[in-house]
Amino acid sequence: MKYDYLIVGAGLFGSVFACEAKAAGKKVLVIDKRPNIAGNVYTEKTEGINVHKYGAHIFHTNLKNVWEYVNRFAEFNRFTNAPVANYKGELYSLPFNMYTFNKMWGVVTPAEAQAEIDRQRSEIKGEPQNLEEQAISLVGRDIYEKLIKGYTEKQWGRDCKDLPSFIIKRLPVRLTYDNNYFNALYQGIPVGGYTKMVENMLDGIEVRLGVDYLENKAELDALADKVLYTGAIDAYFGYRLGNLEYRSVRFENELLDIPNFQGNAAVNYTDRETPWTRIIEHKWFEFGRDEDGNELPKTVISREYSSEWKPGDEPYYPVNDEKNSKLYSRYRELADKEKNVIFGGRLGEYKYYDMDAVIASALECAEKNLK
Ligand code: UDP
Repeated sequence: MKYDYLIVGAGLFGSVFACEAKAAGKKVLVIDKRPNIAGNVYTEKTEGINVHKYGAHIFHTNLKNVWEYVNRFAEFNRFTNAPVANYKGELYSLPFNMYTFNKMWGVVTPAEAQAEIDRQRSEIKGEPQNLEEQAISLVGRDIYEKLIKGYTEKQWGRDCKDLPSFIIKRLPVRLTYDNNYFNALYQGIPVGGYTKMVENMLDGIEVRLGVDYLENKAELDALADKVLYTGAIDAYFGYRLGNLEYRSVRFENELLDIPNFQGNAAVNYTDRETPWTRIIEHKWFEFGRDEDGNELPKTVISREYSSEWKPGDEPYYPVNDEKNSKLYSRYRELADKEKNVIFGGRLGEYKYYDMDAVIASALECAEKNLK
């Protein structure tokens, strides 16, 4: 065999594993069907601005080892995500914090905010059974109706009553004046873009782009002892048990000849009527300046539209409801029988992983398999 590992997918999971495998003295080949590395964290420079081509990625973690790991490959800036919600022209701070409660109810102190939340959440009796109940029980009905319901239903294409409650628990709720979207010790954006960071992870490793693994499986399998597969698990098995559901995202990118479109990196449109879920203005991830500190004269914005995945689309988000979770566990059983193949990452494990969790999982996987 020419290689110890064939790594399918040059996203974060594949690149971290490849880097670790190389460090352990293994011979590795990385392939990806796209013309570029870095999977969905891929960034591309337009007019001096690193554009997040597959949606906004803000690195945040509480895992010291992961933070130290990524800092080996990139320097991180001090960007802190503080999105704004636009509900029919009314603006609210996110995540749900004292600024949000003040704007919504005119309350000033944490005790007043808590009292209002308690009053509104009392409609939920017992353990919340779905996203709607979970949301109301966290922040009350007013916020649910204005900042959660419309956005979530656009994002997931499903009623909030049919979605799992863990999705809304991703967002912090706090009784302080703090707009930091994440409860994370470490946060930032890699200076120079994510693509450069992944390029550094893949330094000295053979990468072939534009190669579709599933279309050339036998031939590619013959190149290596083992395969690490980070594509969609149901696609690997030819959808033989049926399709897992995914949400896909479409971006409409625009280069504007103005320096400032919305004054913030992310604005969420939380009403049901606006067709997009959010608008990202990429330059604000890097404070509107190029690497030499010069202000950038133009701006690039991306309107993000959510849709149900269908064959041929890029899958972005697994739909971890009951039906899909059951189907996934049946695919998992098949995967466990593939002795020389490791499945990893958001698509390989059908899991709503954040970047840091993907890296932690890839490092564990490397630890387990590369000894
Ligand atoms: N969410 C919401 N309103 C918002 C932002 C998020 O209701 O303005 C809900 C929505 O259900 C979303 C979930 O919170 O799917 C998680 O949001 P997050 O920003 O973590 O999603 P991601 O950035 O991964 O798309």
